[in-house]
Parts: sequence; C-alpha cells; structure tokens
Amino acid sequence: MSAFSGRPEPRDVPVGAYPRWDEALAAVNRDLAVSAPEQRPLRLIVYPETGDEYVYVALSNGEAHGSSLTEAETAAETLMAVVEAAQDTVTERLWRAWPLCTVHDLGMHPRDIDGRPSWWCAGGARKGDPAHVRATIGELDTVDRARPVTRKRPKARRLR
Ligand SMILES: [Zn+2]
Repeated sequence: MSAFSGRPEPRDVPVGAYPRWDEALAAVNRDLAVSAPEQRPLRLIVYPETGDEYVYVALSNGEAHGSSLTEAETAAETLMAVVEAAQDTVTERLWRAWPLCTVHDLGMHPRDIDGRPSWWCAGGARKGDPAHVRATIGELDTVDRARPVTRKRPKARRLR
C-alpha cells in the first residue's frame, strides 16, 4: 500500500457484480493454468476514481496494467476485451510473452475467428510453416498440458 499516492486503494470486484466479465475471465484463467501454471489466477479489481468505478484485470497480487474494461455487446466481444486486458497485465507486469505457442515458442495473439475468440500464432519463419490458430480461448488445455514447474526425477529403472 502506498500512503503517498493519493489514490484510493484497488479492491476486489464484489462476487456477481459483473457476471459476464467473471465468465470471460474464467476462460482466460483456464488458459493461464495451462500456459503459466506457476501463476495464481487473474482477478478483477476496481479502482474507484472520481466517483466512478474502473474495472481492471489484475494479477493475483492486485497489479494491473493497461486499460479498464468497457461493456461489450456480445459474449465474444466481452471475451476479447477481457483477454486483451489480461494479456496487457501479464506481459507488462511479468515481462514475458504470454501465452506461448508451444509449437513455435512464439507469443500468441487473441483474434476473432468466425466469431470465436481464438489464440492466433504467426507461425514459423520457414516456408510451409504458416500462421495458425492454436485453440479457442479457454481451451488451450485441449492442445497443451500444464507443464510442471519442477521436473520430477525419473524413477530409476530396476533390473530384474
Ligand atoms: Zn505456432
């Protein structure tokens, strides 16, 4: 907490206050659990400013970056807004590309593919390795498994 900033402290969004953003963030957190399993889930926080409320997607420690969320018309637009805010916060606060395409080791971008918000990767530099859609957002676990943070020691094979 900074006593000198003069800004009100951020606080958690009350449960159920923004159900569409909660739902979208749950999808993003599913992908975070697969692609950055050491991170605790992202959360929505409110900064009260000049009588209004601004909601941000924050790391579990409350740090956020980028723009506040704005209302969107459709579920797909809502998910795009939340995932873009999440990506801003993760990339700027953790200083890393996220999420990575595990095929190309490249940071992926959220794109609306025929109305389905998806993770898009620019592909490899070689010919015949084009840009591709890795997964629908919220479904990275269908293509990647969470990698353990610490590698288990392989069991010694016992001789008979
Ligand atoms: Zn890729």
